[in-house]
Amino acid sequence: MSTIETRGLTAHYGDFQALFGLDVTLRSGETTAIIGANGAGKSTFMKAITGLIKTAPDMIHIDGAPAGGRDAHTIISQGIAMVPEGRRLFPSLSVEENLLIGTHAKRSGPWSLDRVYDVFPVLKERRRLSGTSLSGGQQQMVAIGRALLSNPTTLLCDEISLGLAPVVIEELYRTIAELRSEGLSIVIVEQDVARAVRVADQVYCFMEGRVSLSGAAQDIALEDIRNAYFGI
Ligand code: ATP
Repeated sequence: MSTIETRGLTAHYGDFQALFGLDVTLRSGETTAIIGANGAGKSTFMKAITGLIKTAPDMIHIDGAPAGGRDAHTIISQGIAMVPEGRRLFPSLSVEENLLIGTHAKRSGPWSLDRVYDVFPVLKERRRLSGTSLSGGQQQMVAIGRALLSNPTTLLCDEISLGLAPVVIEELYRTIAELRSEGLSIVIVEQDVARAVRVADQVYCFMEGRVSLSGAAQDIALEDIRNAYFGI
């Protein structure tokens, strides 16, 4: 279990500033949705949390302790795993080999290869095939399974529904809901605002690297989100 907080989080690409002092709390055991237009800073935020972009130590806290500036490997070992946008499977590796990459974190916990195959039986059938020979939805299952095999306490999902058929998206979100009910903290970046609000406990809307709206999903009107999204 861990609550992750950003305090005044900034991020730059060279001279370009992408994030401007974000205060975001990802509460333990909850699902947090991050929404916003293209370029709002959602992926940059995820990269900062996972150590792919360096930050100052006090810009990120895990359970109250400063955790910014750590490398990606250390962050995974602290129980934070990412399902990256675009799935990022290794084409030369089989489905099973792609999954096993997740075990390098060497964290103990409930997730094993067998358990991932129980959740996604189609991956067991196809375990010897190349990861990239699968359908988009199945590749997304590999990306989720790989993240789960690091036995995370927080799972960050960057646009997992992108380019997938509605029925496949439904299935993936059913799995996400089950993971939440088991106590996993989940962060989703999602283009489909209505879906994001439906599955989330907390919602943050980003605009141009700032939080333009935040609150409990049940208290936020879709109309307000639309305004925050487009900066009206
Ligand atoms: P999308 O929905 O398109 O993925 P996003 O909300 O995830 O958008 P980011 O990808 O975080 O937004 O981008 C935030 C800003 O940082 C944008 O202006 C983008 O052009 C810029 N940016 C992102 N990656 C880089 C990079 N590698 N180099 C320079 N600028 C970047």
